[in-house]
Amino acid sequence: MVATNRSDIVKSITDPNKIWDVVIVGGGATGLGAAVDAASRGYKTLLLEQADFAKGTSSRSTKLVHGGVRYLAQGDIGLVREALHERGLLLKNAPHLVKNESFVIPNYEWWGGAFYTIGLTLYDLLAGKLGFGRAKHISKKEVISKLPTINQKGLRGGVVYHDGQFDDSRLAVNLAQTALEQGATVLNYFRVVSLIKDDQQKIAGVITTDMETDQTYTIKCKTVINATGVFVDDLLQMDKPGKKPMVRPSQGVHLVLDRSFMPGEDAIMIPKTEDGRVLFAVPWHDKLVVGTTDTPLNEHSLEPRALEEEIDFIIRTAEKYLSKAPTRHDVLSVFAGLRPLAAPEGDSSKTKEISRSHKLLVSDSGLITITGGKWTTYRRMGEDTINKAIEVGKLDPKPSMTKDLSIHGSKLNVNRDDHLYVYGSDENALLALVNENAEWGKKMHPDMPYIQAEVVWGVRHEMARNVEDILARRVRSLFLNARAAIDMAPLVAGLIAKELNKDAAWEKEQVASFTFLANGYLLEPYQASPKSSPKERM
Ligand SMILES: Cc1cc2nc3c(=O)[nH]c(=O)nc-3n(C[C@H](O)[C@H](O)[C@H](O)COP(=O)(O)OP(=O)(O)OC[C@H]3O[C@@H](n4cnc5c(N)ncnc54)[C@H](O)[C@@H]3O)c2cc1C
Repeated sequence: MVATNRSDIVKSITDPNKIWDVVIVGGGATGLGAAVDAASRGYKTLLLEQADFAKGTSSRSTKLVHGGVRYLAQGDIGLVREALHERGLLLKNAPHLVKNESFVIPNYEWWGGAFYTIGLTLYDLLAGKLGFGRAKHISKKEVISKLPTINQKGLRGGVVYHDGQFDDSRLAVNLAQTALEQGATVLNYFRVVSLIKDDQQKIAGVITTDMETDQTYTIKCKTVINATGVFVDDLLQMDKPGKKPMVRPSQGVHLVLDRSFMPGEDAIMIPKTEDGRVLFAVPWHDKLVVGTTDTPLNEHSLEPRALEEEIDFIIRTAEKYLSKAPTRHDVLSVFAGLRPLAAPEGDSSKTKEISRSHKLLVSDSGLITITGGKWTTYRRMGEDTINKAIEVGKLDPKPSMTKDLSIHGSKLNVNRDDHLYVYGSDENALLALVNENAEWGKKMHPDMPYIQAEVVWGVRHEMARNVEDILARRVRSLFLNARAAIDMAPLVAGLIAKELNKDAAWEKEQVASFTFLANGYLLEPYQASPKSSPKERM
């Protein structure tokens, strides 16, 4: 297994004379995809992420690996075909994290059945050999058997189609591990604070600060890739103060509910809500994720917050389609993410018309900026970006290897009834930790499946540095049940403290800051119960 010890990795960036081929700023889907592509081609690659991998938008998606049925409706055939191709590659290269999910579009209009069946048949045809299964029209009775809690009033039938579903931040962590295995240097909690230029005003490196120690390092390189999502304009400003914004953030919110609101394995897709948007209700782990919204914003942040009207809109729409209507009280977690949509020239007040395809920009200085796109197309975005870096940095040309590159953890036929399936080929090594300490086999919370060994594994092998890294992105408790996450924080802080030699003051501060953060994922504030009661796993 490749070393993920932070101090060892930091050593590799301390040589001031080393010249990297590619430095990537940003450790979300886009930056990680570029790092895997560059390293697997054999380039000296460094990725710097200011917080944790996928801390930004890449942990806050709808969890779909999809072509985008709605882009088909907008006539963007090329974008849909490309995304469907990438969907197939991702299922092949990370089968432990991506699965084939069936979606039902319930029809309440006489024309709905034929209309959506034709559209979705085209969707399937565009996937070519990498198709996930054919769409078909189903009767009202079949809709009810798949979705027992569907609102039956006026229901005429439905259409079933197939798309992919995944765990976004787990994939990000596995991509960081893949990049390391391919020879890249990858660091979280390293912020790029300025760019270095040569006499010709061309990019020659970056200055970066270790957010844990405040120490600053000078990095020399041939190319810099700005893969900072909604933050791309901050780096473009470092490059050229006064530059016009390239990105318009659009917020998307999801509510997480208990599965009793929609038991069964199928997801619902509502193609046209009251304001013309698409809404999904998707089973995810053992909960139900409902969303999303599309709200133009003028500001960006690493912790965006849902607006009241977004929460109301999702609850109002869900209650129209589900016989058991959810209320605010039923919300286990609410999370918001910002789409880094490439802003058009002219008026950018309507986000639905802004392009979802990715854009590559090369500044006069040679800074390469990649923005837009989606999780599903991260690999293709990485390939396009490194092709551009070869041109800009005059790198020795080598072909992309990622189409057939297995992602760390890749394993076929995982047992999805055991929550540890997300670790894929690492599962046995994780469970072996219990031989080192039997306590680590215990569950951390009566309402969540996670065991203590996952915390130790996250710190030792997945570069987790604090309570939030574990509870938000290594296990997904913050997103699935924020109250349970608050309850688990003291135990998680204690386990991390032992691994990283931290003191009691660190533990206390971690619990307090995580509790504050997690309350932002709840509609009603909550304090940790004095003592959680860990249970045996088996
Ligand atoms: C609500 C919502 C739902 C979505 N659903 C789906 C879906 O179901 N399927 C799908 O395919 N796509 C989906 N997407 C799109 C997808 O999530 C995004 O396209 C993708 O995650 C963007 O990744 P990114 O790496 O560009 O940005 P981010 O994930 O935001 O990563 C950028 C990173 O750059 C870091 N950074 C910024 N400045 C610096 C600096 N100075 N130094 C170092 N690091 C820095 C940030 O900390 C951040 O981690 C969704 C998007 C949203 C908002």
